[in-house]
Amino acid sequence: MKQVVVIGGGIAGLAAAYRLTELAREHNQPIGVTLLERSRRLGGPIQTVHEDGFVIECGADSFISEKPWAVELARRLGIDSELIPTGESRRTMVVCRGRLTEVPQGFNLMAPVNLMPVLRSPILSLRGKLRLAIEPMLPRRVAAEDESIAAFVTRRMGREVLERLAQPLAAGIYTGDPAVLSIEATLPRFAELESHYGSVIRGLKAVQKKTAARSASGARWSLFLSFRHGMRTLVDALAHALGNSIRLETGAQSLIAPAADAKWRVRTGAGAIEADAIVCAARAPDAAALVESFEADLARSLRRIGYSSAATVNLAYKMSDFPRMPQCFGFVVPAAEGREIIAGSFSSLKFPGRAPDGFILMRVFMGGVLQRRMMERGDEQLIAAARHEIAALLGVNAAPILTRVARWSDSMPQYAVGHLNLVSEIEQRAAKLSGFALAGAAYRGVGLPDCIRSGEQAADAVWSYLHSTLRQSAA
Ligand SMILES: Cc1cc2nc3c(=O)[nH]c(=O)nc-3n(C[C@H](O)[C@H](O)[C@H](O)COP(=O)(O)OP(=O)(O)OC[C@H]3O[C@@H](n4cnc5c(N)ncnc54)[C@H](O)[C@@H]3O)c2cc1C
Repeated sequence: MKQVVVIGGGIAGLAAAYRLTELAREHNQPIGVTLLERSRRLGGPIQTVHEDGFVIECGADSFISEKPWAVELARRLGIDSELIPTGESRRTMVVCRGRLTEVPQGFNLMAPVNLMPVLRSPILSLRGKLRLAIEPMLPRRVAAEDESIAAFVTRRMGREVLERLAQPLAAGIYTGDPAVLSIEATLPRFAELESHYGSVIRGLKAVQKKTAARSASGARWSLFLSFRHGMRTLVDALAHALGNSIRLETGAQSLIAPAADAKWRVRTGAGAIEADAIVCAARAPDAAALVESFEADLARSLRRIGYSSAATVNLAYKMSDFPRMPQCFGFVVPAAEGREIIAGSFSSLKFPGRAPDGFILMRVFMGGVLQRRMMERGDEQLIAAARHEIAALLGVNAAPILTRVARWSDSMPQYAVGHLNLVSEIEQRAAKLSGFALAGAAYRGVGLPDCIRSGEQAADAVWSYLHSTLRQSAA
C-alpha cells in the first residue's frame, strides 16, 4: 500500500490529508496517510475555547463564503448544517481622530462604488475627497509589473485614502505594511479593475451591477460564515475523519529525498517513516528547513517569504457596561491614529450564541508589522492596553469579567511585492521533486478557503503522482 506523509496539522495539512482519504475511497485504492503535527494541537490559528457560556475565538473567527472551498469541505464532512451567517449589522467602523466613524457605504477596502457617501463622510478632508473624485479620470497604468498596495492606492485614490481607509482595512486582513505588500498577491481584484475598466471606481460600479443581477436570483450564504459552536468544529470534524492517521507532538525533523527505491524518509523524534509521497503544509521557513539538505535553492526561495506576528485579546463585559450598544461588527484603526490596537470586533454581535444573554464578547487585535513592539509586552500589559483603548474609543471603563490573550508568532505570511513570481519559482522547483507538494498560507492566499484549496490541490498532485507510479509498475 502506498504511503503519504502530510507535514503540518494546520487547516491546509488537514484538508490535504482528508482529500487523500477521499480520493482513496473514490478510486477504491487504499493508501496510508500519516499527518505529522509538531505541536500539541491541530488547527494552527483556528482555536476556539468554550468558557462560562462564551464561545471565544482566539484566532480565525470566520471565513469568506465567496470562495467556495471551506463551505464545500464542510458539506463533504457533513457539518454544513452547523454553518452560521453573520448577524444583521453589516457596518464597519474606522477610527477617525479618536472616534469610531462609519466606513462610507459601498466603500470596498480601498475604493468606493459610489462617491456620494464618501463625500458626505468626515473621514477624508476636502482635499482628500477631491483627489479621490478624479480617480475615474486618471489614465490607466501602462507598466505591467507588480507594485505595493500603498503605491497602487496612492496613485489611484490618493494618499489620504491610503492612510485613513485602505491601510487599516488591509492591515485588518494581512497585519502587514501596505508599502511592502503586493497588490497582485493580496488584492488582485483591484489591479484587474484598473486594467480592465481603466478605473477602480468605474470597475467596482460595473461589477456591482452584475452582482446585483446575480443576487436577485438568490444568494445562499452571507459574506462571512462561521460554525455554531465556533471554528473548531471544522478542525474537530477533520480530526475525527482522519482518526488514527494523526500524530500530535511529532514534528518532522528532517526529510531525505528518494534514492533508488523512490522512497522519501521522514525523521521524527519517534523514529523514521518511509513514504511514497510528501505533502509539506508547514510554514515556509519550516518547509525550508526540511528541504535544505537536498534542495538548497528551494529552501532559499522559501525563506524569502516573511511573516508577521499578532496577538488577540478577548474581553467579555456586561452589556450594561457599554454606554451605547455598538452598532457594528467591528472597527479598524489606522496606524496614523497612533493607538495600540489595529482592530476590534464585537464577536457576540457578529455571530449568534457567542455570549450568554446580557453580555458582550469582544476582541482586539494587536501587533502586526506596524506595531511589532506590542509583541514584546506581557499578557497583563496587553490586557491593560486593550482596556485603555476600549475605554477611550467605546467609553467602557468597567473591568471585563473575562479576558484571554492569544499570541500568534510569525503566523501571517507577508506577500511582498513580487510574491507571485517568487511563488511560481518555488512551485517550479518543488515540481521537480517526485511525489512532493507544498501547501498552506504561504503561497496563494492566507484566508481559510484558500488554505483549504491549497491543501486539496497538493493532495490531488500527490495522488496523480502515485497513480502514475502504480500504472508504471503495472506496465
Ligand atoms: C490571529 C489570526 C486570525 C486569523 N483570522 C482569520 C479569519 O478570521 N479568517 C480567515 O479566513 N483566515 C484567518 N487567518 C488566517 C488563517 O487562519 C491562516 O492563514 C491559516 O489558518 C493557515 O493555515 P496553514 O495550514 O497554512 O498553516 P498553519 O495553521 O500555520 O499550520 C502549519 C502547521 O505546521 C506545523 N509544523 C510546522 N513545522 C512542522 C514540522 N516540521 N513537522 C510537523 N508539523 C510542523 C505547525 O505546528 C502548524 O500547526 C487568521 C490568522 C491569524 C494568525
